[in-house]
Amino acid sequence: MELACLDLEGVLVPEVWINVAERTGIEALRLTTRDIPDYDRLMRHRLALLDQHHLKLTDIQRVIAEMGPLEGANEFLDWLREHFQLVILSDTFYEFAMPLMRQLGWPTLFCHRLEVVGNRIINYALRQADSKRQAVRAFHGLNFRVIAAGDSYNDTAMLAEAEAGILFRPPQNVIDEFPQFPVARTFEEMRTEFRKASIRSL
Ligand SMILES: [Mg+2]
Repeated sequence: MELACLDLEGVLVPEVWINVAERTGIEALRLTTRDIPDYDRLMRHRLALLDQHHLKLTDIQRVIAEMGPLEGANEFLDWLREHFQLVILSDTFYEFAMPLMRQLGWPTLFCHRLEVVGNRIINYALRQADSKRQAVRAFHGLNFRVIAAGDSYNDTAMLAEAEAGILFRPPQNVIDEFPQFPVARTFEEMRTEFRKASIRSL
């Protein structure tokens, strides 16, 4: 049995924090895992900025509610779910992701949680460290063959752990550091890479 594991932001939906940065005009919120590979350092930086600018959970949820899936993402998911069981492995938070999951037809999502007190985001709780890689390992323990796709640093452990890994619209520095993974620039190319990676003829 083959399982597809997809990253969320940068693959199916735009980057949440970049949209928040654009809406709020806080340039320093633009940094993502593409820029700072250390996720804890990146999140501490983000939470400090939210606090400094008095931004609450509902402010961010308002921005996210107006974001939609990337063009072609839903059609790609329709195809993918015909041929694979699908799990989305993301480093986002359930509190942020739900308005987007609705627009994607509620696929299975494994991600993290925020700690919120009175609408103020005070901390975040990772479900587990190195969660994308650990999920793929666990799926192997359940006898799944895994094909994974993601766009940035926080996906490369998942891509390496899977039987096949695909980079989707990655930045040049990720391509340069991880030349072993094929690169897809469009959803049509993603379909081609999933077909190539599958042991079945799709
Ligand atoms: Mg991503």
